[in-house]
This record gives sequence, structure tokens and C-alpha cells, in this order.
Amino acid sequence: MDINAIRGHRIAIVGGGLAGIAAAEALSRFPFEIHVFEAKRSLGGRAGAYRDPHNPTLIDRCQHVAMGCCTNFLGLCRRLHLRDCFRRDTKLHFIDAEGRKHVFAANRWLPAPLHLAGAFHRQRYLSPDEQKKITSALWEMAPPSAESKYAGWTMRDWLVEKQQSETAIARFWEIVLVSALGAPLSEVSFTAARKVMVDGFLRNHQAYQVYVPTIPLQDVFDVQAAQKLGERGVHFHRQTSVKQVAYFNSRFNVRYGQGQEGTFENFISAIPWQQAPKIFSPILKNLMPKLDRLDEIESSSISSVHLWLDRPITSLSHAVLLDRMSQWVFNHGSRQLGDVSAYYYQVVISASQNLNGIPHEEIARQVFEELNSAFGASPPPKLLEQQVVTERQAVFAATPEMEELRPSQGTILPGLALAGDWTKTGWPSTMEGAVRSGYMAAEAILRKYGYHKPVGDADLPVAKLSKMLWGIGKENYLG
Ligand SMILES: Cc1cc2nc3c(=O)[nH]c(=O)nc-3n(C[C@H](O)[C@H](O)[C@H](O)COP(=O)(O)OP(=O)(O)OC[C@H]3O[C@@H](n4cnc5c(N)ncnc54)[C@H](O)[C@@H]3O)c2cc1C
Repeated sequence: MDINAIRGHRIAIVGGGLAGIAAAEALSRFPFEIHVFEAKRSLGGRAGAYRDPHNPTLIDRCQHVAMGCCTNFLGLCRRLHLRDCFRRDTKLHFIDAEGRKHVFAANRWLPAPLHLAGAFHRQRYLSPDEQKKITSALWEMAPPSAESKYAGWTMRDWLVEKQQSETAIARFWEIVLVSALGAPLSEVSFTAARKVMVDGFLRNHQAYQVYVPTIPLQDVFDVQAAQKLGERGVHFHRQTSVKQVAYFNSRFNVRYGQGQEGTFENFISAIPWQQAPKIFSPILKNLMPKLDRLDEIESSSISSVHLWLDRPITSLSHAVLLDRMSQWVFNHGSRQLGDVSAYYYQVVISASQNLNGIPHEEIARQVFEELNSAFGASPPPKLLEQQVVTERQAVFAATPEMEELRPSQGTILPGLALAGDWTKTGWPSTMEGAVRSGYMAAEAILRKYGYHKPVGDADLPVAKLSKMLWGIGKENYLG
């Protein structure tokens, strides 16, 4: 690679979400002149926060978590010195309908995939027969050959075929998969579900661990990440929407903001699938035929219910609630609410389309009652403040048709790349998928200059036993 060929070449990255940030991070290791255009006031995209008049601190619109298997997201955080912004939880807690707590944690000494066997059998809300059938279903889905065997199946059809009871589906499969894949199991593909189970639970000891932000996401991405990238010379243009990009004389002509224009040797679109087709000139659009079918991508909503209580309801940092509308609860401890000190909890409800039309007060009331019954705090707390935030197009639904609709990051035009969680990464709509797409878009740009090495991180290594039992590991992104 000739580094002098890069020097001074300009790159426009449109979209300051995680995909755009990752692309900027990778490319800022080279002497490009990088400009990131973000329509909103702050970076972070869907992983963002809002300001509430009663609260001195920013509030995340919705709780975001990553898992140990999210190697590229964690790699981005490491490179931008953001790892301290996340704590790692090695224990999950499941609260059943009677309020009993079931701890889920790996055995320290046993290798994957045996590390979670004991944890799994401690989940007494599943009968021994259900546990046995879940184990044999996991065993059947693990080998890579299952992917082609059940291609095109929905996960629910597969579970019914594998004689999973409705209770097992609701208390195990849905709990794990609906939050990861953003849609009911009757809509998500077997392939996407298999990936979550294999990557999250079967391939590596640390994969299931959960990373929870300890500061507002806006502080992580709009402040700290932006500062580190700024030190590397990346230019950020906030509140600057890109209107159109055209191509002539081997350059991308970008119209943005209030009638401004610029020319760039390279261009990365890192905006959501609903908006991407709108910014390209007809000639550029013709080069990317998959853009014509993006309106077939189905989206799914996620609701987050923010509650401020007058006393603590649990000491757990987070918990999974079974047999309830509420799915995950996160405990943010004591927070100032106006003049009083309050205890702040955030409850996440994925695939929340069925809540459409229900008044927010009603949703918050039910969630509050569910927390009371789950944790049985005595005396019961008083609800001081509530907010419900629903993102209607939060994530794409990982349907069987979705994979075919996803375009690759590289295009036939050198210097033009697509990024965004919806592009072809093999990952669901997650921060990890977004970061991978940004890194893969950066690799596509770098190929134009003769650089062919990966810029991202390899998957977690496959445990010897998982490799031996099922041959897992052949689908590694970096080979
Ligand atoms: C409620 C909710 C909960 C979630 N929970 C999790 C979770 O727990 N874990 C997880 O891993 N993932 C979670 N996700 C998914 C995760 O947030 C996304 O997958 C990821 O942030 C997508 O990043 P992105 O960069 O691809 O897109 P985005 O974050 O959508 O970023 C695109 C950016 O482009 C900007 N833009 C659009 N058009 C233009 C234009 N014309 N010019 C300039 N800028 C433009 C937008 O303003 C936006 O900032 C959740 C998402 C939501 C909404």
C-alpha cells in the first residue's frame, strides 16, 4: 500500500451513529481527511439519550447492552478508551412469576459449552422435561450444517417441530431471542436465532457476559468517542444533514446543510435503510440495485419505561422478568429528580408493536405493578415520575427474507461504501452489527488503495469442545 496515495484524500461519512463512528475510527488510523456529517445535534444515533427538564443528567432513550461476543463493539471501545464507560456483569438474574430469583452464571472451571449447563439446570421455572428438550434442541441447532438444513424456516416453526412446549418457548427461547432479534419468534429466521444461541452461549466461555453502560450513551459517543476521534483529526459536522451525493470526475459531490457543497474522493453512507436510498443521485443508485428493495425491510419497535421511585425496590443491578409484559429491568440507583432524591429504573420491552394505542400512563402503571410483584418491596414504593419512550423503527426484524435484502458494504464503485446495522454483516440489528458494518465499509474504502487487511476484531475463539462436538467456528468473519 502506498500511504502517500492516501494523504490528503477526503472521505465523507454520512451518519454519526455507531456505524459511522466505527468507519471513522478505522480510517483515522490512515492519513485521510475525514468528515462525519450527522443530521442530529449529537452523535450516537439510535444509541442516544435525551434531556428531561426534571433531571440534571441525560437519560438514555433506551437501555443498551452488549454481550461478550460483541468483539468489534468492545474493540471499538478499547481503541477509543471507552471501556471504563461499561461494566461487565457475569451473573444474570431471572425472576419468575412468584417473585423467586434464579441466578444464571457460568461455572468458572468448565469449558464452553459445558460452562452454562449447571446454570441452566438451576432455572427451576422450567420442568426437567422442558430442560431436557431445550438441551437437545440446542444440540441440534449447534452444527453449522443446521443453517442450510433449516434455511427459510422461522424460529417458531422450528421450535414447534422440536417439540418445545409453549412454556419453554415463552420462558427460555423468547426471553433470549426476542430482545436480540427484535421480533416475535413467528417472524424471526432460524438462521438469525441460531447465530444468537451459538455466538452467545455455545462457542466461548465469556460470550454470554453482559456489558452495561455506566454513563449516559450520549456522554460515551458524543463526548468521549468524538473527543478521541477529534484528536486524530476527524472533523464532525453536527446538525448537518446530507441532502444528495452525485459522482463526476472521479469524485463524490456532496450537498449538505444549508446549500453547502464539497467534493470527496471517498464516500460512506452510514444512515438507516429508510433514508439511504434518498441521498444518492440516480446514477449512483443504479450501481446499488439492492437499494431499490430496502422498503421491504420490516422494522420492529422497542419501548423503554422509565420509572422514578421514592425508595429502592431491588439491589440487583439488572434482572430478567418472566411471564410479564416487562422483559428486562435495569437499576440505575439513586438519581436527583427535581428537588428530591429518587431511585431510577428502566424497563425494556422489545417487539413492543402490540402496545401501540395503549396510553403511556397505562403501560407505566402495569410495569410499576409488575416490578412491585416481582420484587415484593415492603413497604411498597411510591411512583414519583414515569416516562415511556417507544422507538417505532428501533431495529430491523431478523426475518428469513432479511438476509437477502442486505447489501454488502463494498460497491462496484471503488471509494463508495455502505454501512449501517442493516447492511450484510450476518449480525442482527445491534451495536455490534453497526460497528462491524462500519469496519467493513472502511475495509472496502481501503481496498481501493491496495490495503487488504481486516481493521476489525476476530470473533471470540471457539472452545475446543464446541469445535469437536459440532464443528462451530467455520463462519468466523475474519476467517
Ligand atoms: C430502543 C432501542 C434499543 C436498542 N437496544 C440495543 C441493545 O440493547 N443492544 C444493542 O446492541 N443494540 C440495541 N439497539 C440497536 C442499536 O441501537 C442499533 O443497531 C445501532 O445503534 C445502529 O447504528 P447505526 O450507526 O447503524 O444507525 P443509527 O444509530 O440509526 O445512526 C444513523 C445516523 O445517521 C443520521 N442520519 C440519517 N440521515 C442523515 C442524513 N441525511 N445526513 C446526516 N445524518 C443522517 C441519523 O441521525 C443517525 O444518527 C437498540 C435500538 C433501539 C432504537
